[in-house]
Amino acid sequence: MRVLLVEDEEKTIGYLTRGLSENGHAVEAVRNGADALELALHYEFDAIILDVMLPGLDGWEVLKRLRAAGRATPVLFLTARDHVEDRVRGFDLGANDYLIKPFAFAELLARLRNLARLPKAAPGGGLLVVGDLEIDTLRHRVTRAGQGLQLTAKEYALLLLLARNQGRVLSRTLIAEAIWGLFYDQHSNAVDALVRRLRAKLDTPFATALLHTIRGTGYVLDP
Ligand code: CA
Repeated sequence: MRVLLVEDEEKTIGYLTRGLSENGHAVEAVRNGADALELALHYEFDAIILDVMLPGLDGWEVLKRLRAAGRATPVLFLTARDHVEDRVRGFDLGANDYLIKPFAFAELLARLRNLARLPKAAPGGGLLVVGDLEIDTLRHRVTRAGQGLQLTAKEYALLLLLARNQGRVLSRTLIAEAIWGLFYDQHSNAVDALVRRLRAKLDTPFATALLHTIRGTGYVLDP
């Protein structure tokens, strides 16, 4: 894969560039948001690994401008920030995945492989549509078949994560880390409970299900 790495910490740049190259990826590393945006707008990458805290434009601003320009390149946020509000903000802006530092390198490789399998999604921002489900990410409004759904912050975060990756099965580990930024062991039941609560609002009142359980693997949003 051709990967754009946006990171301002030299140690992390060295470590990731070496590791990704050894695994057959072509890596271009930049150290600030302006350079990242310049490259991402003018060249094709299979994925962008984007740090949030950067000199000049931060990662959120880079992603916002990239999506506003109509670029759908998959973006994985790599950051030490671990509040659920931060992740919701990232997904709202059109991020495809989120990995919290510190992380295992094997995990990053697995996430990149998954991103490569994503269908070329429509640019983020504005309206996300999955079947008869519509998510207005600017106003945080969710409707299904024209009917408004009242979701909690965590339910909304989960729905956005699934919608940004529609058709792709997400593991419980990935969901737990994306929503809570913690390790799966402590949250295996929490993921299932959150899915149950979301499903009760999203699917139960309607004739067809959008949120599917893939036994032994995870969950997928698919019309
Ligand atoms: Ca940084």
